[in-house]
Amino acid sequence: MREKYRGRLAPSPTGYLHIGHIRTFEVAMKRAREENGILVLRIEDLDRERCRDEYERAIYEDLKYFGFVWQEGPDVGGEFGPYRQSERMELYRKVWRELKKGGFLFPCWRSRRDMEEAPRGPHGNEVVYPVEWRPAEEAALFYDEAAGMNWRFRVPIGRRVEFVDGRVGNYSALAGKDFGDFPVWRKDDVPAYELAVVVDDWAMRITEVVRGEDLLLSTCRQLLIYEAMGWEPPAFYHVPLVLGTDGRKLSKRDGASRAAYQARMILEKSEN
Ligand code: GLU
Repeated sequence: MREKYRGRLAPSPTGYLHIGHIRTFEVAMKRAREENGILVLRIEDLDRERCRDEYERAIYEDLKYFGFVWQEGPDVGGEFGPYRQSERMELYRKVWRELKKGGFLFPCWRSRRDMEEAPRGPHGNEVVYPVEWRPAEEAALFYDEAAGMNWRFRVPIGRRVEFVDGRVGNYSALAGKDFGDFPVWRKDDVPAYELAVVVDDWAMRITEVVRGEDLLLSTCRQLLIYEAMGWEPPAFYHVPLVLGTDGRKLSKRDGASRAAYQARMILEKSEN
């Protein structure tokens, strides 16, 4: 039997929710309703340096303001709470170990400066990690723990990673050209986005991931993690990005692009 539709809202408290997030969440909620399924809320709070309590509070306020609801989560005083990535470190560590054991990871000692000088992919600012920078395969064997090193996933050079997106249709990217070996764990002992998000979408049995179109290439990277772990990936539905009136990406840290703030301003103006 096909599993019931399970979607997710996965905001990061590293800034305010702008209109792009609201649109993505609306699509996620609509998809869950159409399919008679459920949504979970997952707070992606692994990057302690960039996350702030103030942003997290604002996220709850805004979800409420725009009427978003979710139907599963840990019990917090009779309500469904969010799942929190910061509470799930053990699971990420386990998967890091499995991936390392399978020979998919390597430690990377390139500096931030090196990375700035690394070649970029055809999609713009994407760094494509040069194959010559990979250490010898045995390098990973010297480590039992992820902490203290940056870790990357060794992509199969020349492989075309393909999937059929629910909105965009066929999408594919060439490993080694469109994207290269990508980070899965950071030196300061934090899993990278690609690893944490795959582990959680799998563990939470998410059947469809609704996310912004800026993550299409990320989805290809993530498919390689699913494959390496022998996990079946969910379906994907990428929503177009919303650009500001100046044609630029909206900034999460700019309070003026906070969707709830803009909505309130518009309402106020039309009431006067
Ligand atoms: N926390 C990520 C973000 O806010 C989620 C992206 C995703 O849907 O995987 O960009």
